[in-house]
Order: sequence, then structure tokens, then C-alpha cells
Amino acid sequence: MKRQVLSGLILASLFLLNGVGDAVMEAPPEEIPPLYFFYAIHTHVAGDHFPYTTPSLRTLDPRIAENMVATIEGIAEVLEHHGVKGTWEVVYGTAEGLCAYEGENHIFRRLIESGHEIGLHVHRYADYERDLRALSDICGLDVRVTSGLLTDARQAGPDGFQQVMSEGIARHVGWGIRAATINLSSGPLFQWCGGQIGIGNDMGGETGNLMFPWRPDYQGGNICADDPHGDFVFVDHSPMQWWTNLDGRGVADVLTDAHFERLRTLFDAALRYMQERRPGRAAAWGFVTHISEYAVGNRGENPPDPEALAALDRFLGYVAEKAAEGRVIFATASEIARAAFPELTGGVR
Ligand SMILES: [Zn+2]
Repeated sequence: MKRQVLSGLILASLFLLNGVGDAVMEAPPEEIPPLYFFYAIHTHVAGDHFPYTTPSLRTLDPRIAENMVATIEGIAEVLEHHGVKGTWEVVYGTAEGLCAYEGENHIFRRLIESGHEIGLHVHRYADYERDLRALSDICGLDVRVTSGLLTDARQAGPDGFQQVMSEGIARHVGWGIRAATINLSSGPLFQWCGGQIGIGNDMGGETGNLMFPWRPDYQGGNICADDPHGDFVFVDHSPMQWWTNLDGRGVADVLTDAHFERLRTLFDAALRYMQERRPGRAAAWGFVTHISEYAVGNRGENPPDPEALAALDRFLGYVAEKAAEGRVIFATASEIARAAFPELTGGVR
């Protein structure tokens, strides 16, 4: 009797499993549009001058240079293990220092050869030109993406940010740079834009980022609005504070599984959005860290921490499973900008 009930249960569950299988077959994965996935890495430690010992960039500390290169290589190795492309945004001192230290076959050239992308990163607008010169003249690179456009805009406040950002973007377009990574779904600018930036970007509260890249109307002096004929693209990433500040004391010194678990909830929300809404235009989700969250201390004094790299590896392993299912496409920020607006390829880049 007991045995009959049991086999009946087994049959019933086999039938149920089969039913579930059929249901999955009825909604093939290709009907859910894939999500572009990117990782913006702010390539600096506590100051823009490292691996030099001071902001005057006179004396280079080879130990710091070695540690910074090892950290970049360690992160890149994890990314390449899963096919993820990094968008490495480098400050002027780090660009100049590491390129001078390593010579022609420097770390940034090696990253590009492995499919990554190199971009600008500043903490004040005055440094953009210096950063561009370091990456182009000293490192010999073609820069396609920028970051840090919020730094001076925040300082300018609600009455000044439109003009400051519009001018900042115009300078980049003049240099042939057509894309920026940015974080707008938290912080004052989102409020200053009345809670809506670009078109249809209403998911930031769950995903941490605005998933649809847009062309800010900088020529019309309104970066909150989309310019359908614009030539510059914002690619928004989720804020670091939402997932690295677990103890309320700011960005973690070294990243752990607990941090990436939190990040995963934002990424899962983006996947869910794709499944539920199935948007008919390119959508992206990305996150940002500094290289310094992968080493103990914040001044390049240590080589990368294997545990932090292992935590990144486990998170990206999860993302790679979604890529294998066709739910995710790995891309750099400027690849995402071009996927969202293919007509941009007719321009300088
Ligand atoms: Zn930075």
C-alpha cells in the first residue's frame, strides 16, 4: 500500500516536472531580449598621482606600480575567465605612471588587446585634458569613453549643473569621445532632473541604474532630456554605495561575497525587468568599483587580495550562467552606446 502511494507520487512528480519542462519550452529564452552587461573600473587608488609618490609626478614608487599592475591584471584575469569586458577608466597620474613604468607594451595596451576598453576618469573637470594627453600621448591609446562628468556638476548645484555638464560634454565631443559611464539613479542630479532622465528610465529604484542609454540634450542645455539626434551617449551604472557600504561606514576596503550578494540583487532586478517588460531597444546594466577594493589599504601598498578576486569570480560566474542562457551580452560602454544608437558609428568613432 505504502509502496503504491509512493510510486504514485513519483509518477505524479514526473508528470509535473514534464509539465514544467513544457511550460519552459513554450517561452523560449530568445523571446526575452538580452541585457548588455558592463563593468566600469575606476583605475586609481586613494590619489590621482599614484604610482608617483606626490601630485607633482616626479618620483615613481616601483613597489606601488607593481601592486597596481598586479591588481589590474588580477581583475582582468577574472573578467577574461568569464568573457566579461572591462571599461577601465584611468586617472592621469596612474595612466602616465604605469605607461612610463612599463614602456610600450604597458598594461592598458594589453587590456585593449584582450578586448577591454580604456577611458578617461577625473575628479574635477580641470583634469580632463591632462588625462586625455597622458592616455593618448604617453600611452599611445585611442580613448573612446569618459567618466567623472558628475564631479563638477554636483558642485555647480541645481542652478548650474546644466551648463557645466553641457559644456563638459561638448568638450568631449570635440575630442571625438561619444560615450560616458555615469551614475544618475541616486544622488542629487536625479532630483534636479525631476526624477526622470532619458526616456522610460523608471526602474532605477530596483536595479540601481537607468537601463536605457540616452543622448542627453547638451546642445539644448537640458541633459535630463533625450535628444533623438544627439551625438553623445550616457550609459548609467549602479551606485557603489548601494552594495559596498554594508556596515554604514562607506565603501568597503576589500570586497567580499557579502558585497557581491547585495550587488546580485540589483542585477537580478535588471534581469527581471527584461523578462517582464521585454523592451524593444537596447538595455544595459553595469556596476562600478575602483581597483583599490581588491587590495588591502587604499594607497597601492599591497598586492591584490586573492579572496576579493575570488568573490568577484563567483559573482561573474553567476552572470556568465545568464550569458550562457542568452540573457546577457558582455560589452564595453562604447559598444553599448553603439548598440543603442548604431547611427553614431557614422561619426568620428
Ligand atoms: Zn574616482
